Amino acid sequence: MKPNFKQKITNWGNFPVVEKEMRSEDSFEKIKDFVLNHNEVIARGNGRCYGDASLGENIFSSKKLNKFISFDRLNGIIECESGVLLSEVLEISVPQGYFLYVTPGTKFVSLGGAIASDVHGKNHHAEGCFSEYILEFKLMIENGDIIICSRAENTEKFWATIGGMGLTGVILSAKFKLKNIETAYIRQESIKAENIDEIFRLFEESENWTYTVAWIDCLQRGKNIGRSILMRGEHAYRHELSANEAENPLVLKKKLSLTVPFYFPGFVLNAFSVRFFNFLYYTKQSKKELKNFVDYETFFYPLDAVTDWNKIYGKSGFIQYQMVIPKEKGKEGMKKILETIANSGNGSFLAVLKLFGKSNPQAYNSFPFEGYTLALDFKVNSKLKKLVDKLDEIVQEFGGRIYLTKDSMSRSCLTDYLKNVQSSKFVSLQHKRILNNK
Ligand SMILES: Cc1cc2nc3c(=O)[nH]c(=O)nc-3n(C[C@H](O)[C@H](O)[C@H](O)COP(=O)(O)OP(=O)(O)OC[C@H]3O[C@@H](n4cnc5c(N)ncnc54)[C@H](O)[C@@H]3O)c2cc1C
Repeated sequence: MKPNFKQKITNWGNFPVVEKEMRSEDSFEKIKDFVLNHNEVIARGNGRCYGDASLGENIFSSKKLNKFISFDRLNGIIECESGVLLSEVLEISVPQGYFLYVTPGTKFVSLGGAIASDVHGKNHHAEGCFSEYILEFKLMIENGDIIICSRAENTEKFWATIGGMGLTGVILSAKFKLKNIETAYIRQESIKAENIDEIFRLFEESENWTYTVAWIDCLQRGKNIGRSILMRGEHAYRHELSANEAENPLVLKKKLSLTVPFYFPGFVLNAFSVRFFNFLYYTKQSKKELKNFVDYETFFYPLDAVTDWNKIYGKSGFIQYQMVIPKEKGKEGMKKILETIANSGNGSFLAVLKLFGKSNPQAYNSFPFEGYTLALDFKVNSKLKKLVDKLDEIVQEFGGRIYLTKDSMSRSCLTDYLKNVQSSKFVSLQHKRILNNK
């Protein structure tokens, strides 16, 4: 074994920051050594969870598990190691006419992270979670053995690992299905909604669309509460594109990417700048309705265009608070949540509303259930815990739950859906925090 070497580690929210041992290995033998020689281990993918889910006493980083194993181009089935990023899958698959069935709002997540959080996209109401398209994966369990998990083999471990937040072992590789596409473009409609009644009506009217999502200005109050823009989209067919784009429909032009070079000073993001950003975002679309074609990067990953955008929150970091409220109480619950935020003075720079469809009862550790989900970013400051406590109370009152992969300070009762994952070997700081809060 290599000597113990501690380093500062944090995830996307830059909160919390810990000093722990992190190791990456590319051979299964060495990973086994690491697992067997440490009391508490947790796997980490690309650190795109916001809080403490992939932090632990001894962290195994899947960075070196970065190989593609096979790609069945006829049937759209791909197999790769768990550290491969979804961005790398897309680089290979899109030019061949395949896209991910389910993608989160950033493509910089690893395959292992996507399974362990059972991520969802803008199409949960239509196409479910990432796990729906997983055929099998290899898992290293507590004694270092490697087992194959699927719907037919080691099924208990298969379902416990999906959404299991790394607590059942280390996912080493996985095989999953891709979706056929004719082009790398999306036919998009953006519709401005003046308030919460209108945006909920638009979501209902758009249930036949594959992708729907709304950006919400969470600082509005009174009759404007819920002011937002709904975006809905479908993969575009070749005949719908302009002659220029149709010539090479699966290849996108290289774009310039921006980078946030340093942590912004704490004062930059304040109630005024958040209000100003929200105003600009709402007014940049002058028409009530806009129909256009955009490339998949613009539609699915607008935030990825700015590298290290998380630094705008400053060194103290930020949290993302994401909850789901049952559909029938969705509007009422969201209204109360938005009112509480507007009154707190702790504005969220980015607030995103989505609709979840029915959950898969077998995937009992997956976060989504039928309802509305809102994700909010908050800068860490001395008032934040009080706001999170208030939001937790509302989520509990409406029978909702919070998303573990975003969490770093919520009440444990809202995360009770995580089951059958108790292990003395695979332990995260998040899980310890949750158990201690009970
Ligand atoms: C800008 C942004 C937008 C996002 N949008 C969405 C969204 O729309 N929908 C959504 O569902 N999520 C979203 N997320 C969250 C993100 O998809 C998840 O947190 C995802 O799990 C991160 O993957 P990762 O590879 O970075 O894993 P990490 O963040 O490193 O780890 C996440 C979890 O996976 C476990 N894990 C990682 N690798 C392995 C492995 N090899 N074996 C076992 N367990 C493992 C960890 O232990 C941890 O519990 C977003 C995140 C960002 C930053």
